[in-house]
Amino acid sequence: MLVNLETILTDTRRRHYAVGLFNCVTLEMTKGILAAAEELDSPVIIGPAESLLPGATLAEYADMMRGMAARARVPVALHFDHGFTPELVEEAIRLGFTSVMYDCSMLPFEENLRRTREMAAKAHAAGCSLEAEIGHVGSNGSAEEAIAKTVYTRPEDAVTFAVGSDCDALAVAIGTAHGVYKTTPRLDLDCLRRIAAACTLPLVLHGGSGLSDEDFRACVAGGISKINIFTHNNLAAARAAREHYTEQTGAFELMPYITEAVKRETMHHIRVFGSDGKA
Ligand SMILES: [Zn+2]
Repeated sequence: MLVNLETILTDTRRRHYAVGLFNCVTLEMTKGILAAAEELDSPVIIGPAESLLPGATLAEYADMMRGMAARARVPVALHFDHGFTPELVEEAIRLGFTSVMYDCSMLPFEENLRRTREMAAKAHAAGCSLEAEIGHVGSNGSAEEAIAKTVYTRPEDAVTFAVGSDCDALAVAIGTAHGVYKTTPRLDLDCLRRIAAACTLPLVLHGGSGLSDEDFRACVAGGISKINIFTHNNLAAARAAREHYTEQTGAFELMPYITEAVKRETMHHIRVFGSDGKA
């Protein structure tokens, strides 16, 4: 069933688990993620990001994923991740996404706050939840560059932002970076604990691909409610296609292998995040 992000994250802080946002771009990936959530009786979040739009339009992604999410036996939020362009975020709201991230984290704090508050009002009018980001989780380029560009979130800013912006979930920068890591990320769990103690909003961890299962568990224990995963499943899908490809293999023959690989990878993360049995 399709629900919004606020609903899916309601119990996470109190019961100490996190729900995964598994970014997906194909039917096989979407199917594998939903199958994993159903098998483990877990709520789940799916959806594309603005950076993944060259693969398909927002409307095409919405048409496919919204129907699949609505038919699932577990609660599913359809999330538009890292929307930078306000027009696209508003389009996502119109298309029936139940959650949008409006990422103004590169802008000065006050401007981020003002834009987030305006977009939150538009999202809420449509029953859609809104995620924002303060501090900045580095992205693109090499992971070392991204870490260098990371601006750690300050707990006092989280409180001001939570009160002033009316957002439903807050992405925080605690030392992770987007993409594939070449060095081990330096997580600042103390920073996370201070943010979580000061701010009751569900907190979101981006850039988890270089973290160990122990790191994830520590982040959930420290107050993270939502964890974004793309690289693991993206690589697992391509690896499955390569492993099962021969000269006689077509796209159709590869579908079940890709779905199964994404399902297995997703089940692993659902268990690590502790959302199994929480649907
Ligand atoms: Zn992110």
